[in-house]
Amino acid sequence: MPDTSAPQPKKPRGRLFFANPGPTNIPESILHAIGHHAVDFHAPEFMKLYEECWDGILRIMKTTQHMFMYTGSGHAAWEAAIVNVLSAGDTVLVPETGVFSESWSGMMRDVGITVQKLPCDWQHGIEIAALQAALAADTAHTIKAVCVVQNETSTGMFLPVDQVRAAMDAAKHPALLLVDTISSLGCIDLRMDEWKVDVVVGGSQKGLMLPTGMAFTGVSDKAMKASETSTLPKHYFSWKAMSARKQRSFIGTVPTNQFFGLRESIRLIEEEGLDEVFARHARLGEAVRRCVRHWSGNNGPSLFCQNPSRESNSVTAVLMPDGFDAEAIRRTCSQQYNVSLGGGLGKLNGKVFRIGHLGDLNEPMILGTLAAVEMALRVNGVPHAAGGVGAAMEYLASL
Ligand SMILES: *Cc1c(COP(=O)(O)O)cnc(C)c1O
Repeated sequence: MPDTSAPQPKKPRGRLFFANPGPTNIPESILHAIGHHAVDFHAPEFMKLYEECWDGILRIMKTTQHMFMYTGSGHAAWEAAIVNVLSAGDTVLVPETGVFSESWSGMMRDVGITVQKLPCDWQHGIEIAALQAALAADTAHTIKAVCVVQNETSTGMFLPVDQVRAAMDAAKHPALLLVDTISSLGCIDLRMDEWKVDVVVGGSQKGLMLPTGMAFTGVSDKAMKASETSTLPKHYFSWKAMSARKQRSFIGTVPTNQFFGLRESIRLIEEEGLDEVFARHARLGEAVRRCVRHWSGNNGPSLFCQNPSRESNSVTAVLMPDGFDAEAIRRTCSQQYNVSLGGGLGKLNGKVFRIGHLGDLNEPMILGTLAAVEMALRVNGVPHAAGGVGAAMEYLASL
């Protein structure tokens, strides 16, 4: 017999408010699309779907050049980008942004690349002038690639890729430009061809609103050329081997069900309009920031990002006041209100929690999340100026 006298864990009711910065909410039409019977990935009907998805991703990346797709998470596309364009002993320049610039650097070191870091304080980000100076100082052109994270998901700060390109051009530096867009593709503008990005690294489970398990690299002509002389070992990620296949991607079975979802994802994004999608992310991101700025009165939680020109429209990292645990807020939100927030990554664990505002979201979903967080601040006795949700509502209603 079960012991009915013991306190039973509360069973959450109502909809899970999912405010993680990845994975993100999967719209029902995508869930339905993925629930498809198995198909032959060589069949002409599937190839048609495949080509449609291919073209759609190129449109979202704003490129007419090359692409490769992988069964894997964003890390797979990171590794593919590195091993195809670089050789052992090459040096890359990595502007520090946060946990993701650090882990991408770690991956590069592991495969034999020398990483030159351009350090920064995570709350302010690098200065573009410092990047330009570092490139100008490299007169021997030892740096083979500049590897940047467009949207640093651990800190809630983005890096203007157009300015990175301008700094490279001003320094007349021929390095390749590799950009991690895993938490910005389909959320924040990216213009691969216009900004002369050589490799765009993207994943499925953030702005594209799909399950985890598919990743992409947009590849420029210049990067394709570099790949011809790259000597790092590769097989599963080899662009050369992929190019020889009918699918021009995937060494092995093609994840066909992801494609049914991807076609619907692209349809949803283009039905709303890419610019409208960016505007919605900007609107919801600003609503979250107004709420947090309000809370910060009365020594409450504050925006981790201290650089107003680089606030991320897909995720906000909220810094707790000294002595208060961010994990307690996450626990209350999850256990009492069925709201899932992102935790602080790496050294930020316990110090920040993160509100994801990317993907399939609207105003009431964001307001519901903010209201739950504000209640959790009360429940946990965290100082804050009450009424942050009202500040967000006021902003959203004024548009
Ligand atoms: C999520 C994320 C990654 C890691 O991607 P996975 O799909 O989890 O492998 C890398 N970079 C950024 C900026 C991210 O947000």
